[in-house]
Amino acid sequence: MKLPALVIDTAKIRHNTRVVSSMLGELGMRLVGVPKSVLGHPAVVKAMVEGGAAAIADSRVENLARAREGGYAGETVLLRSPAPSRVDEAVAVADVSLNSEVEVVRMLAKAARKANRTHKVVLMVDLGDLREGVPVHKAVETAKAMSSEDGVKLAGIGVNLACYGGVIPTREKMEALLKVRDDIESSLGLKLETVSGGNSANMPLVMNKEMPAGITELRIGESVLLGTEAVHRSPVPGCYPDAFTIVAEVIEVQTKPSKPEGQVGQNAFGLVVTFPDRGIRKRAICAAGRQDIDPDGLTPLEPGVQVLGASSDHLILDVQDAGDVKVGSMLRFIPAYSSLLQAATSPFVEKVVR
Ligand SMILES: *Cc1c(COP(=O)(O)O)cnc(C)c1O
Repeated sequence: MKLPALVIDTAKIRHNTRVVSSMLGELGMRLVGVPKSVLGHPAVVKAMVEGGAAAIADSRVENLARAREGGYAGETVLLRSPAPSRVDEAVAVADVSLNSEVEVVRMLAKAARKANRTHKVVLMVDLGDLREGVPVHKAVETAKAMSSEDGVKLAGIGVNLACYGGVIPTREKMEALLKVRDDIESSLGLKLETVSGGNSANMPLVMNKEMPAGITELRIGESVLLGTEAVHRSPVPGCYPDAFTIVAEVIEVQTKPSKPEGQVGQNAFGLVVTFPDRGIRKRAICAAGRQDIDPDGLTPLEPGVQVLGASSDHLILDVQDAGDVKVGSMLRFIPAYSSLLQAATSPFVEKVVR
């Protein structure tokens, strides 16, 4: 195995998707699988579909194209508003896209007519997280404008919380979304097929059975990939936390003081770091760095190993209390979302499918 490696256990992803999709199913919702943190890796897409994902959603057209090339033939959803310069690609790879600008939807409509397709549009409403979406008071007029374009169909509405502002999805937020649906349906005299209620940060609501009826789907990445909900990062019951592991190779083991010696200034990232003095410790360096992982998003699997930090290419560990760590040892870590994203994106990290 070439190292560092991101080891992908597709059986665990399939299992997690099965667990979460049946939780959603009990509440009348479908699971839309989001493989964007692994760049739409075809093996992950396949595992999600086998586990019950009803559609595959990603924020990037490249990732949806990769899923398609990997043999996925089901429904595709583009999570980030298509860029004006890329509406033709958006229509080619995505059956549905999430939108908040009428201007973009007009371009999508034109591209869809040219391609002889009907592209579905979900209008995003901002309920306080301050990323994408129109304010609630503009939802009806925007829906009206979007629904009047030939080539696109207004499929429904959606919301995204807990991504930028950290606003927690609550029953009240979901009810506010359903109120927007009611206003649009009564003002425009149409039925919306989709009410897309959010992401893995909605899982606490699901686990506590607090999702109101009427939400038709959740778009889920983290909970099926890492087995955690995205509000407190607690485990989702029944899901594996180790569908992904990162393996890195030890290139140095030395006994050193735990505090730097000499005049201390900024490190490679412009930060002045302080170190607790724990005396002389056995330390190891792995051949992996910030180009491959996020040191704050790594949980060592070997007992006694502690992550101290990383520069671009060196991962620094305290191994004083660990077993026999030596040059050439392979150490394993469970990645958090940040490290998964980093490892999946790094050209230096080998992707190994189990
Ligand atoms: C990334 C994303 C998701 C999935 O988020 P997870 O926390 O991985 O479940 C859902 N919806 C949108 C709009 C996204 O950008």
